[in-house]
Amino acid sequence: MSLSMADRDGFIWLDGALTPWREAKMHVLTHALHYGSAVFEGERIYDGRVFRLAAHSARLINSARLLGYELPWTREEIDAATRAVVKANQLGSGYVRPIAWRGSEVMGVSAIGTTVHLAIAPWAQEGTLSVQARPGGINVTMAKYRRPSPEVAPGEAKVAGLYVICGIEKDRALKAGFDDALMLDWQGRLAESTGANIFLAMGEKLVTPKPENFLDGITRRAVMGLARKRGWPVEERAVMPEELDDASEVFLCATAAEIVPVGAIDQRRYQVGPMTRAIVEDFKALVRQPDCEGFGESAHFATTR
Ligand code: PMP
Repeated sequence: MSLSMADRDGFIWLDGALTPWREAKMHVLTHALHYGSAVFEGERIYDGRVFRLAAHSARLINSARLLGYELPWTREEIDAATRAVVKANQLGSGYVRPIAWRGSEVMGVSAIGTTVHLAIAPWAQEGTLSVQARPGGINVTMAKYRRPSPEVAPGEAKVAGLYVICGIEKDRALKAGFDDALMLDWQGRLAESTGANIFLAMGEKLVTPKPENFLDGITRRAVMGLARKRGWPVEERAVMPEELDDASEVFLCATAAEIVPVGAIDQRRYQVGPMTRAIVEDFKALVRQPDCEGFGESAHFATTR
């Protein structure tokens, strides 16, 4: 049986202190638990360094701002806290989950009057959908729920509440024998999977949906940079689901999953082809560069909204 997330050795950085893992707790009347107001990140540790750490910390701060709150730590302080907790847990590789939330001082829809908290928890975790683990690529189905319009929700924020429909769709996909579900946006265009962005290989170029109100992935930005370095044109534009018929290769990408070749989307079948394989190899090299903790291709997250 796998180890419970609540019952482990090690440390979680909680509100400024390295806290023994099992003691990192909160009250049941926490605002974020009831109203979905937590914002979070997912990061990966390679060779003891957190890939694009600065960009992740900045996106965390931006997500909170999109919900109307300010984290009481600077981006640099969050970076330092992350490095400290990764070191305390002696992790050379793994995953990091920073999460900020509104506390338990008052209970009601409004979060005014609650304190802001931040926890950073790293643990050992490998990607399970990698090309090594799934050489033929993963099986994806189309989701029923769509990503919300900008009039409905701040879709560029990585906020707990927005993951409700992702969770429903991921569970539905798993129960039906698929690995993930692909979500359209409110206009019926391709958006993202329940936890990753998508790329299509079409001819000599890569095509990816332009994030209008869904997560602008840090891995996605890295992939765009790698493709351009190879001299491949990258089209960032509205992509209709019918275009999946014209793609020769499809892959997903995200921090936790890394580069994930897609073998099938419902009745459509894809080869794990040369463009996907090249990106898998380039990404492996990129994450091991000594300066990988910087903003890289995600410098736009440095300019807060
Ligand atoms: N979309 C969704 C819904 C996600 O949860 C993630 C993972 N954070 C991504 C895209 C990819 O983002 P990133 O590359 O920054 O991990």
